Amino acid sequence: MKNLPKLYGPYGSAAIAYAEQFPAYGVNAAWFHMFDADAFEACAQAGIAACVEFKVFRADFAQHPDLIPIGMDGKPIRYGRLVQGVCLSKKWFLDYTEENLLAGVRAFQPTGIWLDYLTGAGWFEEPEPDLQEHCFCPDCIADFCNATGIDATTPAEILANYQSAWTRYKCERVAAFGAHYAGIIRSHLPGCVIGAYMCPWTPAEFDGALTRIFAQDYALLAPSIDIFTPLIYVKKSGRSAAWAREVLEAAPGYIPADRPVQLILDALDFPGSLHETVASTTPSHGLQMFSGADIFRDPAKAAIFAAALEEMQRANSEG
Ligand SMILES: [Zn+2]
Repeated sequence: MKNLPKLYGPYGSAAIAYAEQFPAYGVNAAWFHMFDADAFEACAQAGIAACVEFKVFRADFAQHPDLIPIGMDGKPIRYGRLVQGVCLSKKWFLDYTEENLLAGVRAFQPTGIWLDYLTGAGWFEEPEPDLQEHCFCPDCIADFCNATGIDATTPAEILANYQSAWTRYKCERVAAFGAHYAGIIRSHLPGCVIGAYMCPWTPAEFDGALTRIFAQDYALLAPSIDIFTPLIYVKKSGRSAAWAREVLEAAPGYIPADRPVQLILDALDFPGSLHETVASTTPSHGLQMFSGADIFRDPAKAAIFAAALEEMQRANSEG
């Protein structure tokens, strides 16, 4: 395994306004949406690592209804504000995503690029998620049959007779895109850390939805991804703060041993989930704080954050 830096810092461009204070708080990185020139400049000025969150499979469905995956009933799936994933048979969208990535890696030198929405379709930041099998558009069904040698034409037939092959196919399809994007990044930026934001569920939760719905198979993704980042949004997901520690401590059971896990916490859950992260017997390899501006806006919160980072960094250097 290559020597991966332990990066600690906020997610979100609003936090960049506080970049000059970061080193004093033990913050050595910042994550921001897409290849944002102003954010790169601010990170360089502050001497901290610039990390890009790069959106792959997410689109405005109101604007591009052709990208909405097709559900079991042959109709576009239900979706809410947070929906991610698209029909992966739409070449124009895949070309557009790849062009954006290429333009970014040619113009900038980020320390890391975290692939976001490298998943099947749905949304998981909910206590009771609305999970729907997809995409059963004619092109995706044809691709499944072609890839597997299975002859099936309807969603009912696929789910009744070939559920495990269908799930495996979807995971392999998403992992192949991950490998393709990682190849682009590595060929242009050989030292760049490649991360992926992950559905935070264990493989068994919600009847295997991590793979069955979100098509995220850690073992298949591991050759392309250096650091896995499960989204630990406690309040939004109706969980308790201990979830952060539970995910870290369970991770060795289903995440390849040579792939570190770095949590992203939510400022809404501050400081409970942060304390649980620090207390975990399996450390988080660095840390991201979603909506991090909320922490740095308040010196008392920033001090708590700094103390937690210090404790994590000390534990890491001892371990
Ligand atoms: Zn499709």
